Amino acid sequence: MITILCITCAFVVHGQNANKYPIPPTMTHEMTEFWTPQPKIVAPGSTTGLPPSDAIILFNGSDLSQWEKAPDKSVLIKGKDLSKFKSSEKNNALWIVEDGILTVNKEAGDIQTIQSFGDFQLHIEWRIPENISGESQLRGNSGVFLQNIYEVQILDSYNNETYANGQSGSIYKQTAPLVNAMRPPGEWNVFDIIYTAPTFKSDGTYRSRPVVTILHNGVLIQNNTQILGTTPYIGLPQVIEHGKGPIRLQAHGDESAPISFRNIWIREL
Ligand code: MG
Repeated sequence: MITILCITCAFVVHGQNANKYPIPPTMTHEMTEFWTPQPKIVAPGSTTGLPPSDAIILFNGSDLSQWEKAPDKSVLIKGKDLSKFKSSEKNNALWIVEDGILTVNKEAGDIQTIQSFGDFQLHIEWRIPENISGESQLRGNSGVFLQNIYEVQILDSYNNETYANGQSGSIYKQTAPLVNAMRPPGEWNVFDIIYTAPTFKSDGTYRSRPVVTILHNGVLIQNNTQILGTTPYIGLPQVIEHGKGPIRLQAHGDESAPISFRNIWIREL
């Protein structure tokens, strides 16, 4: 009788313990945003120059022949082989090229390079329009996705407070820039991005993480920063096994005036 009671007790206790396991809260976007410390503001010097002789010119002001429409991000996340997103007739990049400048067409969605890259040095110039409106993340939001996966944030971070790890030059929702070297709306900004692609173990986890160094208007803002995984708006970074991938530029859905790009080139390393 005592034995039966004890066995019954054990089941009850076991059952109670199982019911006591905490249920993790549902992730919200605020959970991965930190506001302090805010990066110190640094006024940049001048940055002008022509591409080096061995650069692959991705945009020189004339056309989008090096670009295509990017596939839906949900498709990308499911697939590991980025090479299947090759260009096709239907995938023409439909952003606006005028007066040597490339401007985001928000209705047309993201665009990406036709060519895929591993390790690289990327130079890209971008401008927030003078008539920009909105605040925080809804003010000139765009982004440069490294290998189609890891977003370096583009935003108007000039007199525009937002979470530190969502400022211009942040590895989005991961690492804030070391300083804020932003130029005011209407002036051209420059990113020089040196990127080392990750390597993977056979189980799909990182053997070595992706690493990035970034100069914003000639000022160091990311110094050998290890990227932890994907850069989602909601949720934690995820590790997705991948090979070479394109450079993708973001057409963000905010209602502020679209930003522009010029002088985009890349050197394979
Ligand atoms: Mg963005």
